[in-house]
Amino acid sequence: MLQKSLWMILFWTVPSVTDVTSYNCTCEGGHCSENTCNGKTCFVTEQLLEKNEIHRVRGCFNSDITEQCNSKTSFSEARCCYSNFCNADITIYTIKEKVEEPVGLVLVTVLPVALFLILAILFTFLFWKLRRKSRKKLLARLIDFGNEDIVNASTVGDSTLGDLLDDYCTTGSGSGLPFLVQRTVARQVTLGECVGKGRYGEVWRGTWQGENVAVKIFSSRDEQSWFRETEIYNTVLLRHENILGFIASDMTSRNSSTQLWLITHYHDNGSLYDYLQRNTVDPESCLQLAVSIICGLVHLHVEIFGTQGKPAIAHRDLKSRNILVKSNKQCCIADLGLAVMHCQNGDYLDIGNNPRVGTKRYMAPELLDETIRTDSFESYKQTDVWAYGLVVWEICRRTIINGMVEDYRPPFYDVVPHDPSFEDMKKVVCVDQQRPNVPNTWCLDNVLSALTKIMRECWYQSPSARLTALRIKKTLNNLKNSLEQRKQEC
Ligand code: ADP
Ligand code: MG
Repeated sequence: MLQKSLWMILFWTVPSVTDVTSYNCTCEGGHCSENTCNGKTCFVTEQLLEKNEIHRVRGCFNSDITEQCNSKTSFSEARCCYSNFCNADITIYTIKEKVEEPVGLVLVTVLPVALFLILAILFTFLFWKLRRKSRKKLLARLIDFGNEDIVNASTVGDSTLGDLLDDYCTTGSGSGLPFLVQRTVARQVTLGECVGKGRYGEVWRGTWQGENVAVKIFSSRDEQSWFRETEIYNTVLLRHENILGFIASDMTSRNSSTQLWLITHYHDNGSLYDYLQRNTVDPESCLQLAVSIICGLVHLHVEIFGTQGKPAIAHRDLKSRNILVKSNKQCCIADLGLAVMHCQNGDYLDIGNNPRVGTKRYMAPELLDETIRTDSFESYKQTDVWAYGLVVWEICRRTIINGMVEDYRPPFYDVVPHDPSFEDMKKVVCVDQQRPNVPNTWCLDNVLSALTKIMRECWYQSPSARLTALRIKKTLNNLKNSLEQRKQEC
């Protein structure tokens, strides 16, 4: 509108003079009745509008009006010429200077985002590929060797399990026996009786060349747990007195069904859960059990660097049924079917792809209210510490103080039903913020009062406020040392 009036003023002020020298000019714009006009001067004017548009007008002046020809402002300009149709191809502004800004904007914002997305997709793809490759390799090694029975007794010879494990585990870079030997050992195991049933399979006592071994037989629908335990035991140096000793893993195909075996050291006392049903302990043994579990947990939680190193591992299903009691009354942690691994280098978190979830009764509040930061490895360690506190509480109940002892009970036995639902647990742990009851008698004993303090610090609602496994280990070792010192003084 503004332009139009501008041009009308311009034209109406141009006097109409008939002169001999006139030119045919290109006419373009709202004022033209035809594509051409005739005048003394051909002109082009351009005006820069918002949104990078150029408003261009071509036409002819009938008089010599050079001031208008030379008019130039920061957003408009006119040019004149003096020959037939000389104004046809004249352009003054190019859109370039105006479009530069959005191009710059594209470069600065869109391009890095696109680049980042492409890289992220590439990395995810590569990561997935690598993971698949290593899994495939592991599986292939486990399956392919299988049906040929390549390794005969001469490879294994008259070795005892101890010899075999010593040979392979102290010299090799891996954590256990080579797959070949694993397979051979597995095929030579004779099954005895079933000693335990977990949620995902059965555990049998078996014998291998006269020695007891435990054979965990997974149901084929829980292949992921078998795979995870096999993977963790085979990729990680996990030899530790407080972690269940791994011997072999085997997958066979018999009668069109898949059999998945995991062979470990056998512990006659069974799980801590079984043990506490049948036995009571004195404060010293109570401390020994608690210390040994935390030592195992610290070994899992820490990352060890170097060729003989290991990634950090969080257990994610710590409970008295997944802890075994050895003949020396130390515990070892078992059942790594749900574990996650983490390497600081590149912040690599391997969650595995097991659909299984931990045991509801032992779930930390952040798991129950689903606020847990699933992308952070620390979160998983913090849930282990919560569960550790509950296990210590179970042990403490079975500890005799001044001749008094409680019956064995699982955590939250008094506030949730036998097989609690997720909602039952959530109500108790998150909404009502209840914690297991601590009997008054526990403060009468040094060990139990120290353990009470620790368990309370494992049960903070806020995961980051909880003690770390390492801190608990240090505190308990100090307590153990001071008790031993006192004993020597007496
Ligand atoms: P799941 O993955 O099915 O839960 P676990 O490894 O937890 O299996 O074992 C289930 C039960 O079997 C344990 O609670 C324990 O009673 C018994 N058990 C497992 N491993 C051994 C072992 N090495 N020696 C003796 N008993 C074992
Ligand atoms: Mg278990």
